Amino acid sequence: MAVVGSGAAGISVALTAAARGLRVLVVTKDLVGGATPLAQGGLAAALGPGDTTAAHAHDTLTAGAGLCEPDVVAALTASAPGAIEWLTTLGARLETRDLRLEGGHSAHRIVHSGDDATGAEVHRTLLAALLASGVEILDRTVALELLPADASRAERGFGTDDAGRAERGFGTDDAGRAERGFGTDDAGRAEPGAGSGAGDIDGAGTGTGARVRGGTAAANAGLPDAAAGEPVPVRPVPAGSAGGLAAARIGADGRLAPGVIAARAVVIAAGGLGQAFGTTSNPGGATGDGIAVAARAGAVIRDLEFVQFHPTVLWLPGASGQCPLITEALRGAGAVLRDCDGTPLMAGHDPRGDLAPRDVVAARMAEVIAAGDAGHVWLDATALGADVLEHGFPTVTAACRKHGIDPVTAMIPVAPGAHYSCGGIAADLDGRTSVPGLYAAGEAASTGAQGANRLASNSVTEAVIAGRRTGAAIADALSASGGPADVAGPAWPGRGMHDPRTRAAEAVNPGICPPRPVTGTAAADAGGPAIEGESADTGAQASEGAQAEAGARRRELALAMSRYAGVLRDADGLARLVRALTEAGGISWPAGTRSGRPDHDGPPPGTGRKPAAFLRDEARLGLDLEEVEEANLRTVSLLIAAGALRRAESRGCHRRRDAAGTAAAPWHTLARWDGQELVVTEEKL
Ligand SMILES: Cc1cc2nc3c(=O)[nH]c(=O)nc-3n(C[C@H](O)[C@H](O)[C@H](O)COP(=O)(O)OP(=O)(O)OC[C@H]3O[C@@H](n4cnc5c(N)ncnc54)[C@H](O)[C@@H]3O)c2cc1C
Repeated sequence: MAVVGSGAAGISVALTAAARGLRVLVVTKDLVGGATPLAQGGLAAALGPGDTTAAHAHDTLTAGAGLCEPDVVAALTASAPGAIEWLTTLGARLETRDLRLEGGHSAHRIVHSGDDATGAEVHRTLLAALLASGVEILDRTVALELLPADASRAERGFGTDDAGRAERGFGTDDAGRAERGFGTDDAGRAEPGAGSGAGDIDGAGTGTGARVRGGTAAANAGLPDAAAGEPVPVRPVPAGSAGGLAAARIGADGRLAPGVIAARAVVIAAGGLGQAFGTTSNPGGATGDGIAVAARAGAVIRDLEFVQFHPTVLWLPGASGQCPLITEALRGAGAVLRDCDGTPLMAGHDPRGDLAPRDVVAARMAEVIAAGDAGHVWLDATALGADVLEHGFPTVTAACRKHGIDPVTAMIPVAPGAHYSCGGIAADLDGRTSVPGLYAAGEAASTGAQGANRLASNSVTEAVIAGRRTGAAIADALSASGGPADVAGPAWPGRGMHDPRTRAAEAVNPGICPPRPVTGTAAADAGGPAIEGESADTGAQASEGAQAEAGARRRELALAMSRYAGVLRDADGLARLVRALTEAGGISWPAGTRSGRPDHDGPPPGTGRKPAAFLRDEARLGLDLEEVEEANLRTVSLLIAAGALRRAESRGCHRRRDAAGTAAAPWHTLARWDGQELVVTEEKL
């Protein structure tokens, strides 16, 4: 099986499946990246005295505003203590007694590590277990497309035929010879497989690759039915279902070397999509790739309009993309949000003041920001004093000082930033999606655990639980299907590959990317560029080369998303956005569907042409990462905008200026490309 992503979800899947005897390949853009190492607060689990899993479930359902699946939430909260125990058994140093309280929780139930380094500790632990497990890893590799089972089987696994030569498929020239890519030398023959794992490759240099291993004893802990070392018999999944991946190695210059990975099951654990917006707490690789890949393969995407915005990310003039998060614990300690005149922002707006739920605070901030032209409001922590700031909030204080702001003496400019995708690939907690053989877990999935708004610190917990369940479910499914395994051996060239062990040692927390300059007026920066008939500078920069052009398009799109699909939305802005994406992406919307009013009995509200796949499009060979990510951002942006337009109500973290009320009967938004047509429908609950 192939797992896309090496965050909490992907590694949990891989460890569990390997412990059940499956041969697992992890494909990841960045082995030490993703959102998991950045998680500051912690993991929610009902471990405290007097706390119960029922209370945890109740709080989760309340935050989810009618869109959680109660049985999924019950399973999640009941499994949370076991997930913490599993992580602890693997070696995670977690504080499980002195639990913290976070917004929306009725009890102290946040398991944490260090002041604000919980994610780094969880990821360090999981990565160490992964490297010790014998799971194969392809670092600096981007998944491009899902392969249908029949197509990838024809290519006999890992892109080689019986004689070890790469067969026709992705990355072939006109004569059918494999171009340079996975497992091929210059003449198109498969090279000896140097292996990609972490020291457990059997027969390195033979081209037959890794043997199946059962993972570590620790990885098996907590899985009573784990059969360490026992290979699970597998047979091909049915035609028309997932059979593998087209993927590409990422060169130092961002250029891609594509190839094919055959797998009996593919798991998307590729995280979120915060980079679709102008300001985000998410890392640079959070470009919605996994959701876009699944969507292009025909998977149902659910509730993607629900994007949780963190109220306080550091605002920097002209910056876009990932910005440092200013923890809400600072407001818990007494910091106050102020408008540009210095007036407390939340006074008189919510009885909970600065500690109102994230969506309430973010919405108020967005109103104030839209009314002015500064592009931000202020967070005043000066009353806390140097001792509290430097010793209680060292990360925040250092991040501010790095950008020339001393929170001891000056107010911090802040703005809401895209933080978490509540929707995603429709899946159950065992990872099963609407496409046979395709599984999804973690932030990329919509399991029903998060609903219309995520309860704080529930996401890493979900990623671990869903990841483990998905790994076990795939082992069960492939085992039950019977028949012999017929996966061909890997033939990774190894050239230019990063040794995963070296990469892991480099840094678990990659830190914050430097802000990228954009052009445009201050007003446009505040809310994104105007599109369609408006006169503001779009920020697009003349540039040479596809990579620079893709980067400029990406920034332009992100600013437009913040403006029209950000914290506060309305039908007019969303329709503009959809039209712009439609024109750019070749997707049309039939008349009568732009009002955003739910049409419960009518025909599917939106149809259009499917975005071009990277796979088998010879013209697109020679792509670079920036272009792939930009195309994926375009796909998920359209899905977000289409869902938000369709959802003419305010619910959870989705706020419509023109539809402030919440409908009595909740529904899920379902979007799916049916052949060439994008169909957006509702599923009533
Ligand atoms: C600053 C910050 C603080 C947070 N704090 C908390 C917190 O305190 N508690 C909490 O519960 N949650 C928190 N969250 C959310 C939480 O961190 C994430 O929801 C969770 O870690 C997601 O885990 P994941 O495994 O699904 O994805 P990630 O950890 O994001 O991993 C995604 C993986 O997919 C890979 N990838 C992506 N695209 C591709 C591709 N095309 N091909 C190959 N690989 C790909 C990436 O390299 C990465 O390895 C926070 C998030 C942020 C950004």
